[in-house]
Amino acid sequence: MTVAIIAAMPQELSALEAVLHVERTDSVAGRHFRWGRLGEEAVVLTLCGIGKVAAATTTALLLDRYQVRAVLFTGVAGGLGAAVRVGDVVVGTSLLQHDMDASPLFPRWEVPGTGHARFMADVAWSERLAAGARLVLAQPHEALMHFGIRSVPGLHQGLIISGDQFIASAAASTALRTALPDALAVEMEGAAVAQVCADFDRPFAVLRTISDRADDQAHVDFPSFLTEVAAGYSRDIVLAALSAATAPTCASFAGCVQPG
Ligand code: SAH
Repeated sequence: MTVAIIAAMPQELSALEAVLHVERTDSVAGRHFRWGRLGEEAVVLTLCGIGKVAAATTTALLLDRYQVRAVLFTGVAGGLGAAVRVGDVVVGTSLLQHDMDASPLFPRWEVPGTGHARFMADVAWSERLAAGARLVLAQPHEALMHFGIRSVPGLHQGLIISGDQFIASAAASTALRTALPDALAVEMEGAAVAQVCADFDRPFAVLRTISDRADDQAHVDFPSFLTEVAAGYSRDIVLAALSAATAPTCASFAGCVQPG
């Protein structure tokens, strides 16, 4: 069965699309699905558009109509954690909708009817993305210099929060940091994908390159960062994760020593 790879904006998926061997395409509800192979893995690539509803519609279509076996979301996000810098990568271990608030009927952030505020990402896919990110970030990235980034970018794993707002002021990002001190990054789609995948009991993982610090400078260089840095990261990290998924497991050949 096929693995779905979703992004919100064209630039986030452009480099991956360039290496996809397209076998067929179709369109439903304004979403364009490109089916093919990345390495050994059967995949479908699609853009969902920006925001939680757009992401939820797209994810529900993929899971119900096409029965994909896993959903990987890739794109950019604003850094919230003190150590989460532009050029770093965050893999979400859990996802929360920071603008969900049905209190006092339900605890703040809990999605009514689910009993959850935080939706857990699939451990195996998240680890494959994290392993891919470690490899990719260890390579030199000249493009980072254009954005004044001279240090080696880092990988972070933890809470990603989503809401229907582009967070672009120090006041807004401070408020989020105070309310949710363990949030590493803020974006606009991941937690919606997570909620739909929970409904369908299907695994998902979220990979985000930090494009901004969700502050007053958040809009600066955003488009060029997408094409010059984030697109390549998405391609290389997702390709590494997919090849790890299809690599023979340790148990399948003799003489293999389990690490650690
Ligand atoms: N300026 C863009 C709009 C981007 S909206 C345009 O003209 O199209 C922000 C997109 O990037 C969303 O898909 C969101 O998931 C992610 N994102 C990056 N930084 C963000 C931030 N600081 N706050 C919220 N979402 C952010």
